[in-house]
Amino acid sequence: MNFNLNNGQKQAIRHGEGPCIVIAPPGSGKTAVITQRTKYLIEQQGINPANILVITFTKAAATQMKERFGTLMGGASPVSFGTFHAVFFTVLRHAYGFRAENILKEEQRIEFLRDIIHRFDLEIDDEMEFISDITGEISLIKNDRISLEHYYSTNCPEDVFRKIYLEYDNKLKNARLIDFDDMLVYCYELFKVRKDILNAWQSKYKYILIDEFQDINKIQYDIIRMLAKPNNNLFIVGDDDQSIYRFRGAKPEIMLNFDKDYKNAKKVLLNTNYRSTQLIVEGAERVIHNNKSRFEKEVRTVQGEGTPIVIKTLKNQEEENKELINQILECRQSGGDFSDIAILYRTNTQPRILVEKLMEYNIPFKMRDILPNIYEHWITKNIISYIHLATGSRERKEFLQIINRPKRYVSRECLDNKQISFEYMREFYKDKDWMQERINKLEYDLRLLANMPPYAAINYIRQGIGYEEYLQEYAKYRRIKPDDLIDTLNEVQESAKSFKTFGEWFVHIDEYTNELKAQLKNRNCNHNSVSLATMHSAKGLEYKRVYIIDVNEGITPFRKAVTEADLAEERRMFYVALTRAKEQLYVYSLEERLGKKLEVSRFVGELIVNKQELVPSKEIIHKKYGEGVIKAVDKDKLIIYFKKNKKILVLDTNFCISNQYIKLKKEDSMLI
Ligand code: ATP
Ligand code: MG
Repeated sequence: MNFNLNNGQKQAIRHGEGPCIVIAPPGSGKTAVITQRTKYLIEQQGINPANILVITFTKAAATQMKERFGTLMGGASPVSFGTFHAVFFTVLRHAYGFRAENILKEEQRIEFLRDIIHRFDLEIDDEMEFISDITGEISLIKNDRISLEHYYSTNCPEDVFRKIYLEYDNKLKNARLIDFDDMLVYCYELFKVRKDILNAWQSKYKYILIDEFQDINKIQYDIIRMLAKPNNNLFIVGDDDQSIYRFRGAKPEIMLNFDKDYKNAKKVLLNTNYRSTQLIVEGAERVIHNNKSRFEKEVRTVQGEGTPIVIKTLKNQEEENKELINQILECRQSGGDFSDIAILYRTNTQPRILVEKLMEYNIPFKMRDILPNIYEHWITKNIISYIHLATGSRERKEFLQIINRPKRYVSRECLDNKQISFEYMREFYKDKDWMQERINKLEYDLRLLANMPPYAAINYIRQGIGYEEYLQEYAKYRRIKPDDLIDTLNEVQESAKSFKTFGEWFVHIDEYTNELKAQLKNRNCNHNSVSLATMHSAKGLEYKRVYIIDVNEGITPFRKAVTEADLAEERRMFYVALTRAKEQLYVYSLEERLGKKLEVSRFVGELIVNKQELVPSKEIIHKKYGEGVIKAVDKDKLIIYFKKNKKILVLDTNFCISNQYIKLKKEDSMLI
């Protein structure tokens, strides 16, 4: 870091003893202040590095910070850098002798919950999804310290949920295992009852510094409060506008009320964005201003005006991917690095087709999140089983996949037979005409499927066989919206489009699966690669060029966001994404995705100029034509008298910017 610190930063870095809070917008050097202050404490204040604890929210961020600090100090140092979980686990390790083996592994968690579901004989089809939803709920209860009696599950009836929760807890205790959330719960309880242990840790960590404090939850805060006593050398930095972990119990109010909990806290506001150009900062500000309850921050820029944000609507994913590939190759040809580029999105299933394209063009990329392999999704497995049976397989496991999807009411008793075949089923139901009919219909359908190309076959499975209706009913039973399921089905069908035979499609599936595994293995090895990340994982990072994709209603903001609070959180995620860009920012929306028409996101509207502000007599500055005055506004046309000549500018209703860049004189700059 070779730059001159500004006064606010200096003030924060050189803060003496006691609590201090830095609230500041993106790119203002909050993370930089944390590392610089750590250095300052050691070098200028003579603090023992082993007495300093620096906490961040993700493992990646903690590792990165440790590395940066190492560079700053010219070598390794005994300062503790870690996530809340890592730190609290260290405490438990010392207190209870817990070791890594005591941490519940992902596979174990799934196995435990699966076991419980079977024992209670719950009728769940998509176990994995159910398990993941239930895990989220268990986690929230522990993090928010909600009592079980007062909790209402959104995934299953209350009594069932309670049974699952208690049984899960029991299993963990019996096996002397703790899950991630238990690390917080146990640590909290330990500090409450064992003052001696608490005191020991208090004297070890005399200085605590926390980055991204807006994402802290109740239990983490309660533990930190205990740990920071008696001196309360608690140095926290954050930005309430970037709080995006509400689903995990994050409470930005904790940060905003910090000075109520610590009356003597010094408060420092930083207001210079060093990261991004003026146009990017102004665009992002326009968006976030639509959130109601927020701590208003002043923002200055130093990077110069820069180039306008490019806002584009593309026909479909295919066009969007083409555009991205062209952009990446162009950037590379003009001397840029792959690592200058990040492609950001709301959910980790979005880039699936893009990943296929990047592989095809041999463009190296790294993903911060795990991309679920759509070909391993249970819906794909069902479809493939239909196709396998159609093409001659008579394996029991293939029958089991599809026989009651849709419901044909073939009983467990019948299916228990080791060898399931059409003949066996006919024999089993020999007195039941309606069952005979169902079995015959299935056999007939499979014969039809055998001769279809993959795309048509999937279509027939959905419509002719009734698989899509089955998904709708299943969603109703599970009390979930069918959209995700139908989307997956659409995507599987779409991916089969370009293949003439089942064989070709299956080869493609194998290749894709293998490459994806290889990519995951080499995840962090390739330094010169394009970054693909969800908005969540991109937090704290910065890139020269950022592409935000699929900025449409239903995706960003996500369709599950319905309340005002949900939408505010979605807007913050979009804000985080926008503010990762240093020099160039591209926002892409789609006209349709997987055959469904989509609307451009409301956030795009917020990013561009508010047309109502372009009114007659407004003085403006145009990028190309210079100063002028608006004379008249006619639907999508602006008649402007520039100093040199009169012009009519047409506003592109698709939000395309081309070169139409206008700045309102003396006021906010605007993009059209
Ligand atoms: P975010 O909220 O996104 O996490 P942040 O406030 O943590 O952002 P940093 O990542 O610390 O911001 O800094 C943003 C960029 O600005 C970094 O590249 C950093 O090196 C640079 N920077 C910070 N302070 C200064 C300064 N005083 N002069 C020049 N550059 C600076
Ligand atoms: Mg930061």
